Amino acid sequence: MLSTVEREAVCNVCHDGKAVYYRVYSGERLCRTCFVKTFEKRVIRTIGRYKLFKPDDKIAVAVSGGKDSLSLLYVLKKIEKRFPRAGLLAVTVDEGIEGYRDEALEYVEEVTRMLEVPLYKTSFEEVFGKTLSEIVASRQFRLSGLAACSVCGPLRRRAINIAAKRAGATVIATAHTLDDVVQTYFLKTFRGELGTSEIGLRLEGPFIPRVAPFRLTPEREVVFYAYLHNIPFQSQVCPNAADSMRNMIRRFLAEFDERYPGSLFAALRSFEKTATLGKKIQMVCSSCGEPSSRELCRVCELTQTLIH
Ligand SMILES: [Zn+2]
Ligand SMILES: [Zn+2]
Repeated sequence: MLSTVEREAVCNVCHDGKAVYYRVYSGERLCRTCFVKTFEKRVIRTIGRYKLFKPDDKIAVAVSGGKDSLSLLYVLKKIEKRFPRAGLLAVTVDEGIEGYRDEALEYVEEVTRMLEVPLYKTSFEEVFGKTLSEIVASRQFRLSGLAACSVCGPLRRRAINIAAKRAGATVIATAHTLDDVVQTYFLKTFRGELGTSEIGLRLEGPFIPRVAPFRLTPEREVVFYAYLHNIPFQSQVCPNAADSMRNMIRRFLAEFDERYPGSLFAALRSFEKTATLGKKIQMVCSSCGEPSSRELCRVCELTQTLIH
């Protein structure tokens, strides 16, 4: 990232500091201070624009130990002062992926301790009675033809919901970035599910709403923010990460946005016009009552076929 900035370029915002970041889509060259300021301002603007938080919310940040979630915790801790009645905590899930999870959990503990944010932990073993490694080693899993990630994702979301509920949270903040949100809209498009539910926006119902304060923040800016703040994070890729539909979309969008900067923002605006934005509706699972776009949610489907 540093290499994209011409030597001795000066910040376009303060006209004083040395530029360290080039924001391709806006043409801005930013110094460290202005990058951090505009990054944090954008998060505050996102929270305000979509009304993601209420003044007296108890916010549970879902942290995995990756750069996105630890950066989110860091930013929210910093801007928490603007919400004096709000509370902040962190929730994390140990999926039980042998040789992978331990390192991430160490970073989660280190950062939450440093920021003085209470941490609530849970695990697949505790919630579902089996670790992910046990589930993927089972005969039922092999017969199902599913990829590990498509089992892990829904179960992790459910475990986070349970941990957040136990901690008394009123909202869950996830670290999904602009890139993730646009990928998800495309995924829903290709599955015929666009418009069935919103992504990262506050929907009220008999469950804890999930919001994404990085909705308008590109992934690469989160990476740079984590780097500037020396936030330790796990860079090792999950051993289960498969060549899924999402990965195809991710590669396509990354290439497209590099060639045509600003495309991700434009795609988001388009999806927001066609999706359910503003409609406060959310279907719930007929079996467990958790949010679902179908009659029976994915978690109930998975636990019935793979675990029970
Ligand atoms: Zn500056
Ligand atoms: Zn269900």
